[in-house]
Amino acid sequence: MRLKDIKSLSYEELCEEMKALELPAYRGGQIFLWLHGKNASSFDEMLNIPLNIRKTLSEKYYIACAAIEKKQISCYDGTVKYLYRLNDGEFIEAVLMSYHHGYTICISTQVGCRMGCTFCATGKSGFARNLTPSEMISQIQQAEKDNGIKISNIVLMGMGEPLDNFENVIKFLSLVSSDKGMNIGMRHITLSTCGIVPKIYELAELKLQITLSVSLHAPNDSIRSRTMPINRKYGVRQLIESCRYYAKTTGRRITFEYAMIDGVNDSRECAYELAKLIKGMICHVNLIPVNSVSGSDYRKSKKKRLEEFSKILESNSIAATVRRTLGSDIDASCGQLRRKHIS
Ligand code: SAH
Ligand code: SF4
Repeated sequence: MRLKDIKSLSYEELCEEMKALELPAYRGGQIFLWLHGKNASSFDEMLNIPLNIRKTLSEKYYIACAAIEKKQISCYDGTVKYLYRLNDGEFIEAVLMSYHHGYTICISTQVGCRMGCTFCATGKSGFARNLTPSEMISQIQQAEKDNGIKISNIVLMGMGEPLDNFENVIKFLSLVSSDKGMNIGMRHITLSTCGIVPKIYELAELKLQITLSVSLHAPNDSIRSRTMPINRKYGVRQLIESCRYYAKTTGRRITFEYAMIDGVNDSRECAYELAKLIKGMICHVNLIPVNSVSGSDYRKSKKKRLEEFSKILESNSIAATVRRTLGSDIDASCGQLRRKHIS
């Protein structure tokens, strides 16, 4: 019999499962606390659950785990990059960053990615499968355990496209923000997408308090379709329209990610075009010098270009920051470590 993934069940679902096993519902609550509040990795740790029940549980369920396979620590800023091995032997990555306001973890939502962006290491290594909610939770728990810390912020910016794994990601958000579990508030979570437009509308309707980050990377279809294949399905205009709807419906400010690639999307004209495109929206633009990835000849924009680009945006009343890149010595850009490990 295939074992069920117990850490992906909500508090209510766990209580229902216990009833189906003819156990009192409160056992479900106790187990939820062990799995999400106390990070138990085996049923034997659940000391307030009688031995015979623990035995039944281990015959019916498994506890998903992202085991640390490899770890790299940046000597510049202490950023830690993890390569995790999942129960079925697949590998994923996460990055732990330390800021003055606490710890932020960047986690993966899929093994690989289907979207094929040309500048991205994950996009180059293909797609294996979606992650379960429990596998997303486990990436956070393992990093907390490894460092003896409590993580306060989460960004879904590791490997994979979160909106291509919509249901599991939404379930993960509700699990991780549960006050009976890890209790990380939605306002401390950022979801990054390459722009799957119908899913942005679907997400807007849920009115979650998360920050939506949109990987724009180009101000028009001709550049964007060259670097991001998703744009051939949902063009820039359609994407921006969905962002305006999202911002209006949720009242939340959108962040646009813009990886600056030398000679591709970093001209003055691109800056003016971008300013015009997003004018009037409650948003913020993050300009990031692109990380070079093996197998592509994209280069970072020059510092002067970045500054000029940012000035043009600001003179058009658009808030922009040039983001510092953490962990540049440890392949911290998504997908780079896994790609090295499996090739
Ligand atoms: N699939 C989602 C989230 C994961 S990618 C998305 O695309 O938004 C996380 C972020 O890293 C995205 O903004 C993505 O565009 C960016 N990214 C990927 N490869 C990069 C590179 N080589 N240099 C800079 N940013 C990169
Ligand atoms: Fe996938 Fe995001 Fe990489 Fe594009 S940038 S290939 S959507 S992970």
